[in-house]
Amino acid sequence: MTDSRPRQRLRHQIALVTGGSSGIGAGVAKAMAAEGAVVYVNYSSGAEEAAAVVQEIEAAGGRAVAVQADVSKEEDVQRMFRHICEEQGTLHILVSNSGIQQDAGFLDMTLEQWQKVIDVNLTGQFLCAREAAREFVRRGPQPDISAATGKIICMSSVHELIPWAGHVNYAASKGGVMQLMKSMAQELAPHRIRVNSIGPGAIATPINEDTRDTPAEEKKLLTLIPYGRIGESADIGKVAVWLASDEADYVTGTTLFVDGGMTLYPGFADNG
Ligand code: NAD
Repeated sequence: MTDSRPRQRLRHQIALVTGGSSGIGAGVAKAMAAEGAVVYVNYSSGAEEAAAVVQEIEAAGGRAVAVQADVSKEEDVQRMFRHICEEQGTLHILVSNSGIQQDAGFLDMTLEQWQKVIDVNLTGQFLCAREAAREFVRRGPQPDISAATGKIICMSSVHELIPWAGHVNYAASKGGVMQLMKSMAQELAPHRIRVNSIGPGAIATPINEDTRDTPAEEKKLLTLIPYGRIGESADIGKVAVWLASDEADYVTGTTLFVDGGMTLYPGFADNG
């Protein structure tokens, strides 16, 4: 029998999960707390949701704190990092997860819809990663706590690779996250800061509720997933823990797709 109990792989580490109040972020926050990290659960609006995640973590014996900030606003992001560092002394892990969709056909997409998605999904990742990297460099190595001086995990998507009609703002933001992640990884590696992305496929969360409304819609979605099931936030949580842990110490600058094979071009499985 395998032992599935958490191994405290993130003990003595401070983690920030942006958008930790919902969906994938909540899954990552719970998984990291179960591995011993003190987790800051960021939210933009919806303090009750963040409080519920914190409560769930505490009920399971973990440690978590809710922290408000709009990741697309520089002053909010800087205030959030100051607050965490004042309370905990430093930070070891950033999971830059906040993200939104504002869908429209290309001909009808407004500048506002374009800009809002780029602001949260791409600029938000830049602002949070920059503050995290500044803190990692300021603090320097703590080899007793973590092999790497700091870890940044960007929540990307299969759409950093797969084009998505009707969602050009979202696909462009995730394509941007890919190059942001890789360029940061290249620049920060000499500081022993690891930067990676997770590329989720279809994970059941509020962001895509409307694509799973009916059995017919769910069946259509499943044709895109060779592994034959829609993912859960816990699937991403487990991978995020591993990427942040010393087990992944030689992994930097890569996107780990967690997608049940969605990026395998399933349309070509039957001779194309
Ligand atoms: P979700 O809607 O459940 O969660 C999004 C989170 O982002 C929420 O906590 C929300 O409060 C937060 N957020 C939104 N705007 C913000 C802002 N300005 N500042 C701070 N936080 C803000 O959706 P989810 O599916 O859990 O999405 C999480 C991430 O995963 C996103 O980056 C999304 O693009 C990515 N993703 C999701 C899927 C999927 O199938 N669910 C697939 C690929 C990628």
